[in-house]
Amino acid sequence: VIRECFDLGPLHNPANLMGIEACEANMPGTPNVAVFDTSFGMGMEPYAYRYAIPEEYYTKYQLRRYGFHGTSHNFVSHETISYGKLPEGHRRVIVCHLGNGSSISASVDGKCLETSMGLTPLEGLVMGTRSGSLDPAVVQFICDHENMSVDDCLTMLNKKSGVLALSGNKSSDFRDLRQGELDGDERCQLALESFRHHAIMTIGGYISAMGGVDAITFTAGIGENDGDMREKIMKHFAYMGIKIDEEKNQVRGEKMEISTPDSTVRVFVIPTNEELAIARDTVRLVTR
Ligand code: AMP
Repeated sequence: VIRECFDLGPLHNPANLMGIEACEANMPGTPNVAVFDTSFGMGMEPYAYRYAIPEEYYTKYQLRRYGFHGTSHNFVSHETISYGKLPEGHRRVIVCHLGNGSSISASVDGKCLETSMGLTPLEGLVMGTRSGSLDPAVVQFICDHENMSVDDCLTMLNKKSGVLALSGNKSSDFRDLRQGELDGDERCQLALESFRHHAIMTIGGYISAMGGVDAITFTAGIGENDGDMREKIMKHFAYMGIKIDEEKNQVRGEKMEISTPDSTVRVFVIPTNEELAIARDTVRLVTR
C-alpha cells in the first residue's frame, strides 16, 4: 500500500485511511494513493497560512489555513502556463475557480502563494450556499440570540448562506440568479453584486501581493460557462489595461484565451479536470 499523504493535519478523515485498509483486505497488493485537495495550499508561506491567534493552537492542532480545490488550482495553474506558453519569469497566475463552491488562488511558477479558503472551505469568497469570510463574532451573536449551537450555526453558514441567502432563498444556481437580475429582482442583483465584489477584491489583493500578474484564468461551473460574470469581474481591471475580447468571451466549457492581443494581462478560460490531475499523480507515484 502506498500512502502518500501530502498533508496529514487534523483535517484528514480517518474514514479515508480506513478505506485504504479495506482495499488492502479486498485487493491485496494493489497500490492505493491518497491525493489531498489541500496539498496545493501547502506551498503557502507562514505569513499567509498562519492565523494571527496564539501559537499554541497551531503547534497543538496545526490550526492554519490549508485551502481547498487545491487539485483544481494546481491543474489549472499549470495548464495556464503550458497552454499560454508563459515564459519563465512571467508565471504569476491567478486562478478563479468559480462554481457552487468558489475559491481563488495566486501562484508563481506553479507554487501557491495564496488561496482564499482556509482551515475549512467556509473561508473566503461568497459562494452558492456558504457565507465566505465574516466577523467570527457573528457566530456568537447568532448563537446567543437564536439559542443555536455552534454546530447548527456552522451548518447554516455552510448550507443556507451565500448567494442563496442574499437572493432571499431564490436559488444558489447562478443561471436562476442571472435571470432574476435580468427581470429586475433586487435580491438577485444584490447576490450577484456581492459575489462579484468579493471576487474582484480578492483578485485585486492577489495582484498586489505578487507585484503584478501575468495571467488570470477562469474555471469551474461559473468560470467556464458564464461570460457575463467573467466580463463584469474583468471590467474592474480595465484601469490596468486588461481587455476582454467580447466574441471570444462567449466561449463555454472550452480552453480559450479571451483577452485581446493588446491586453496587459492574458485572460483564459480553462476547464478544470480534477480526475485527470488525480490520475496523473497516481501514475507518478505508483511508477516511481
Ligand atoms: P460546479 O460547482 O463547478 O459544478 O459549478 C456549479 C455552478 O455552476 C452552479 O451554481 C451553476 O449555476 C453554475 N453554472 C453552470 N452553468 C452555468 C451557466 N451557463 N451560467 C452561469 N452559471 C452556470
